[in-house]
Amino acid sequence: MRDYPLDKIRNFGIIAHIDAGKTTISERILFYTGKKYKIGEVHQGEATMDWMEQEKERGITITAAATTCLWKGYRLNLIDTPGHIDFTVEVQRSLRVLDGGVVIFDGVAGVEPQSETVWHQANKFNVPRICFINKMDRLGGSFYSSLASIHERLTADAYPIQLPIGAEDNFQGIIDLLDNKAIFYLDDLGTKFEEREIPDNLKEKVVEYRARLIDKIIDKSGNDDMTAKYLNGEVDKIDLKDIKIALRKCTIKGDIIPVLCGAALKNKGVQFLLDAVVDYLPSPLDVSVVKGTNPKNNEEVMIKVSDDAPFSALVFKVASDPFIGKLCFFRVYSGHLASSSYVLNSTTSDKERVGRIVRLHANTREDISDVYAGDIAAIVGLKNTFTGHTLCDPEDRVVLETIVFPEPVISIAIEPKTKADQERMGMALSKLVEEDPTFRVHTDLETLETIISGMGELHLEIIIDRMKREFKVEANIGNPQVAYKETIKGTAEAEGKYIRQSGGRGQYGHCWLRVEPLVRGSGLEFVDSLKGGSIPKEYVLPIEKGVREAMAKGVIAHYPLIDIKVTVYDGSYHEVDSSESAFKIAGSMALQEAVRRAEPVLLEPIMKVEIAVPEPFLGDIIGDLNAKRGQIKDVIDRAAMKVIDSTVPLASMFGYATRLRSLTQGRGSYTMEFSEYAEVPRHVLEEIAKK
Ligand code: GDP
Repeated sequence: MRDYPLDKIRNFGIIAHIDAGKTTISERILFYTGKKYKIGEVHQGEATMDWMEQEKERGITITAAATTCLWKGYRLNLIDTPGHIDFTVEVQRSLRVLDGGVVIFDGVAGVEPQSETVWHQANKFNVPRICFINKMDRLGGSFYSSLASIHERLTADAYPIQLPIGAEDNFQGIIDLLDNKAIFYLDDLGTKFEEREIPDNLKEKVVEYRARLIDKIIDKSGNDDMTAKYLNGEVDKIDLKDIKIALRKCTIKGDIIPVLCGAALKNKGVQFLLDAVVDYLPSPLDVSVVKGTNPKNNEEVMIKVSDDAPFSALVFKVASDPFIGKLCFFRVYSGHLASSSYVLNSTTSDKERVGRIVRLHANTREDISDVYAGDIAAIVGLKNTFTGHTLCDPEDRVVLETIVFPEPVISIAIEPKTKADQERMGMALSKLVEEDPTFRVHTDLETLETIISGMGELHLEIIIDRMKREFKVEANIGNPQVAYKETIKGTAEAEGKYIRQSGGRGQYGHCWLRVEPLVRGSGLEFVDSLKGGSIPKEYVLPIEKGVREAMAKGVIAHYPLIDIKVTVYDGSYHEVDSSESAFKIAGSMALQEAVRRAEPVLLEPIMKVEIAVPEPFLGDIIGDLNAKRGQIKDVIDRAAMKVIDSTVPLASMFGYATRLRSLTQGRGSYTMEFSEYAEVPRHVLEEIAKK
């Protein structure tokens, strides 16, 4: 039996850029929901959510684990989303499984460049959200100017449902606009507060903001009864409960984004934030439709969020727990799953045994016997299941829309210091690869070095750090290198012939291939257009294998080839001497030759870089960007800063944090994310090829 009805579940995440206060708020949530008894300060390294050592040290949260807590008869599954831009893919996969989000702003800075990035991601995934303006106690903390920056840069549909009482040192409490009451905090822990009259100096503001909010709710509600009362000037006769229900609907539709405020560090506002999560963010039932595909006929299927439907779930995170091993976090979309049962991984077609099912709380792990539609938990014991895979009922196959992961853009060579390190390193790397789909490991066949690749310098730094701490691996680290790719611009045909006939059984493989360029992100498309039995069917797969192997190494500087359509259209075979291995070699040879003839080019990752600097430094920064082959798209004014929107090759961005600091006396900040792969200009190419 399920213990919480579907409408009493909230799967939500805290979406924020680094430093806005996500860790502090998560901490307070766990404190108030009673699973954690001590409030830890981030700077003292006691944040419960940050269970990985180096996260504590850096004060940033990387993993997207889920924590369950209970609030006023609701079960809240808090899905952790990272704030650093290097981990956008982590943000994206959390956004995929949560139903609603709380977006945090620093009340001093308002909307920052990174807030815009996460906001746009939430838009992309249609995540209903509420805003929380934090740090109201800080010097310079202003609710109204933060709100103005939200209106100006993110959305005009943000409406306060609270106003702060006092500010900075004198931040004392919160006014609830719908309930029309003032709440004053009485102690530092935020557990004692009382309702009082709305202070005189705020009365006018309250009337103004409350009217604006209610107008909007009624306007968007589509509720005739409410609208009629409103038009008759009888707003007071509308039941407050109905207004709240209407606001909930508006929030879920994205018509209104309620704005709250507080100071998490001073324990103010977090309980009301939890109330708002329950009142206004969607339950799994409110989520429009979940789409999947039937793997048997590739037809689209709509999944009904219900316990009675066949089981379907998406794995959104794989983590290794030091005590119980590999944990697969999953979100159930339909049906139910029992521990000690079997489940089908419809992505790989493997049947897997479900060992234990666990729910993670702040500091405990609870074994559960069943999970139901809408819930989030973790399975212990799945062998061949990774992030993005679908789990489903073996009798009712479905594949849910998967999560798309970008190719890594940066790599570093690592070398274990001792023999013992070498052994541990192999194990550590395979565990880390399991956990993180944007992290890759390979051995360079020429230098025999181990190369790790990821989404940015910080991403790899953190992985190396984890190797040291969790797996005790000491390693020498090379300099970061750009992950170049190769592709073709033209179309060409070439022949691959692998024929050895000198006594006994020989070797005979022979094929003709055509190569054509594809748009970025297409990968390899292999087409068999052989006619008339020039090559028997059983040798086509070996040719494809040969092609795939050859794609790993391009013809310009041995970087992997991407985005090519390869068609095998002719060839020949020998009754006795032909073999799979001979055709595989012929496939490889033909591909290399065809690529050589098809205008091969080198591609480099181009990053979208946004830099905010005070006006006096603008000229220097732009000059520096030009020297880095950067392209300035736009320069806009934002608060007191000039914000440069640009694209820059990743190759010129190494160590930019230090560079920017020295160019702006520490006053500039920047964000960077992968934009696209583009052709390397000739003069740069020569340098790279030399290396
Ligand atoms: P995260 O990077 O988003 O997880 O942010 P943290 O929770 O680590 O907070 C960043 C910094 O802001 C820390 O030094 C916190 O102590 C501080 N901070 C968080 N919330 C508040 C607040 O309400 N008021 C003040 N003054 N500082 C806060």
